[in-house]
Amino acid sequence: MEITKQGKNREHYLTEIDYDARTAVCRICGPTKLTRKKHGNKYGFYCNTNILNNYKDYYSRQPAEWHQERRLKYDGRSIARKSSLKCKYNLTVEEYDEMFKALDGLCQICRNPETEKDRTGVIKWLAVDHCHTTGKVRGLLCAQCNQGLGNYRDNTDYLKAAIAYLEA
Ligand SMILES: [Zn+2]
Ligand SMILES: [Zn+2]
Repeated sequence: MEITKQGKNREHYLTEIDYDARTAVCRICGPTKLTRKKHGNKYGFYCNTNILNNYKDYYSRQPAEWHQERRLKYDGRSIARKSSLKCKYNLTVEEYDEMFKALDGLCQICRNPETEKDRTGVIKWLAVDHCHTTGKVRGLLCAQCNQGLGNYRDNTDYLKAAIAYLEA
């Protein structure tokens, strides 16, 4: 089976390859996942950690405009994004984009753009904030504000007490 051959990356040499579980141990990165990649006209398996880090490096070197452009051009059409919005928040991509545009891409609380990056080094979309009891979408928040509300268990009494505490 030619297809289940280790790729030619001698640096990130893989051992303990499990093709079914798609896992291996890389000489440099340690335990990792296998990524199947085309090399010439053959497929090989490569260290996923190494591939992700290379992408991450590349994305991190790009300016904010590049991220924004890529987001509008590419991520907007992503099937994963579409189904995740629909399934988690019952929101269509169009509805999200409308909200996003109305906010100029800024967080509804702190009015700052998102700065948190995903595991591939791309700046994230604003998070969809929803009420955990009713499931209703409240708005779009940056990761920090969204986590902030979550840390206060969405409890307005705690938040008011926190403001009073900070202003005391
Ligand atoms: Zn590696
Ligand atoms: Zn914010």
